Amino acid sequence: MDDKLDFTYSVDRFADIQVIRYKVPGFEDLTLRQKKLIYFLSKAALEGRDILYDQNGKYNLRIRKMLEAVYLHYDGDRSDKHFLALETYLKRVWFSNGIHHHYATDKFIPDFSPEFFREALKHIDPNELPLTDGMTLDELCDEIFPIIFDPNVMPKRVNQADGEDVVQTSACNYYSNVSQEEAEQFYNAMKSEDDVYPVMYGLNSRLVKENGQVKEVIWKSDGLYGKAIDRIIFWLEKALPYAETPEQAEVIRTLIDYYRTGDLRTFDEYSILWVKDLDAHIDFTNGFIESYGDPLGLKASWEAIVNFKDVVATHRTEVLSENAAWFEQHSPVDKRFKKSKVKGVSAKVITATILGGDLYPSSAIGINLPNSNWIRSVHGSKSVTIGNLIDSYNKVAHGNGFYEEFVYSADTRKMIDKYGDVTDDLHTDLHECLGHGSGQLLPGTDPDALKVYGSTIEEARADLFALYYLADKKLVDLQLLNDDEAFKAQYYTYILNGLMTQLVRISLGNNVEEAHMRNRQLIARWAYEHGKEEKVIELVKENGKTYLKINDYERLRSLFAELLAEIQRIKSEGDFEGARYLVETYGVKIDPVLHKEILERYEQLHLAPYKGFVNPVYTPVVDKDGEIIDVEISYAEGYVEQMLRYSKDYANLPYVNN
Ligand code: ZN
Repeated sequence: MDDKLDFTYSVDRFADIQVIRYKVPGFEDLTLRQKKLIYFLSKAALEGRDILYDQNGKYNLRIRKMLEAVYLHYDGDRSDKHFLALETYLKRVWFSNGIHHHYATDKFIPDFSPEFFREALKHIDPNELPLTDGMTLDELCDEIFPIIFDPNVMPKRVNQADGEDVVQTSACNYYSNVSQEEAEQFYNAMKSEDDVYPVMYGLNSRLVKENGQVKEVIWKSDGLYGKAIDRIIFWLEKALPYAETPEQAEVIRTLIDYYRTGDLRTFDEYSILWVKDLDAHIDFTNGFIESYGDPLGLKASWEAIVNFKDVVATHRTEVLSENAAWFEQHSPVDKRFKKSKVKGVSAKVITATILGGDLYPSSAIGINLPNSNWIRSVHGSKSVTIGNLIDSYNKVAHGNGFYEEFVYSADTRKMIDKYGDVTDDLHTDLHECLGHGSGQLLPGTDPDALKVYGSTIEEARADLFALYYLADKKLVDLQLLNDDEAFKAQYYTYILNGLMTQLVRISLGNNVEEAHMRNRQLIARWAYEHGKEEKVIELVKENGKTYLKINDYERLRSLFAELLAEIQRIKSEGDFEGARYLVETYGVKIDPVLHKEILERYEQLHLAPYKGFVNPVYTPVVDKDGEIIDVEISYAEGYVEQMLRYSKDYANLPYVNN
């Protein structure tokens, strides 16, 4: 069976969401042992799904169950508008792992009526419903419906509003019956000035008040969420014999130990072992990691990812960093501002094989862990970008009508289709591995001299370094590009974004505020204005629409060189006035007429602002003795299918977790 032939990136579209697929290139080439390791770790990555639902809100598991029961067993008209609204709402609940928006954290209200829902539930076999302790259906509805339908009940998952009790006004399930003051007192009392290696207090527990006493209920094997944690341990133990290195085996063993005891000292030990485990090809994270979901930033949501090293992409960053000295010598900036010795940074790129918990369906595209400050400073951290997820985002962007709307000619679009992704990756590598590390301050220059303009100037410096070298024959010589015209794709999309399309993220009437956006507009506007007489870059009008035309790519490169030299001078000399002039003149203000036009054109494309992923499916192939002889990967599963399967196979927790 070869389902790669009909691989489609786009899987589903609803509300403000687009669900897409990602490929796992290289999986088939792994050894059987590696495939088994990935398979078992992937199972461990899915078993904690219900933990996150419960962390995100104490009613989420029951609400999901009620919705799924109606979705699966509804015997009325499935094209009825109430049923369709229920379907959309359920898709949103799955996507957010609860009833609050995954990003904005505010509650979304369904478009079906409470009457419809109650009536539909009455036709469902009671065994399919989360009726606990002899509860009747009406009692269940009376308890749950305000949570779903009343906008004033639990309106925000994470409330950060200044002056309010953020613990009591947040719907997340990390605290029970405690006030913000009580929680802060509880954790302040744990901290000690003398402890130079403090654990991350509160990371793996719910804080509750019972009989007037504030205490932690720990998430561990025989504690809260124990049933799900035991399933995670089960698969980690299966994975253990297939660890690639003794260090990795120690990582897995220590993680199991931590899940059993809930001891945060053990978690620190695990984190240190994990940071040091650099030789294995396969890597994974599984645990209570990020604390964005807690208004106090202490308690971590459960997440998991399994991945292996993307050898080709990592090689690319290594080649650049090995040649760092050549790039520094040949850059178009004044000799006085160049480093005599440069060290490039090589970035590790990984391929994700499964996403779980708080990384699913919406995922980060980079990971930088562990979060413990003292471990980072003493033992370092791992920083990776997830290449196959970025690639998937890029591929989707090609087919969504965006370039058809904004790119001037079919030829230019063809060029972007062919070279847009590879030059985009290279731009990022040049920016990160070489750009930021290049150049030096003159002796006596205050590194903070550029103040509020510092980060915009710094980003512009790294971007210009990347843009300048993208057009250099050196990249072809290093076999990082195979066509010395490929850079044009990046030049076009960079200027298009800086002059026009990035404005879709700004409301009409506002200025450009964010440093990266200011930097991109600064570069694009400066090049446009300085090449105006020679018509290097033109904005032409056709049928009332503004289009970007680039007439002279070689000249554009020399404009980038001029600006890079000037920006490096500003940085090296700490010329605050020079920085202010460039940023304020080119980076901040927006032409309101053009802005309005861009917003209207973008609006008509109906693009989804948020994206997330479905996972591939891994199926072990067993021989007649039950031995795994291969693991197959399939990309055929749809969004609804996958969510329903996960809800069935990984329903590890009771509906109510007290
Ligand atoms: Zn940067």
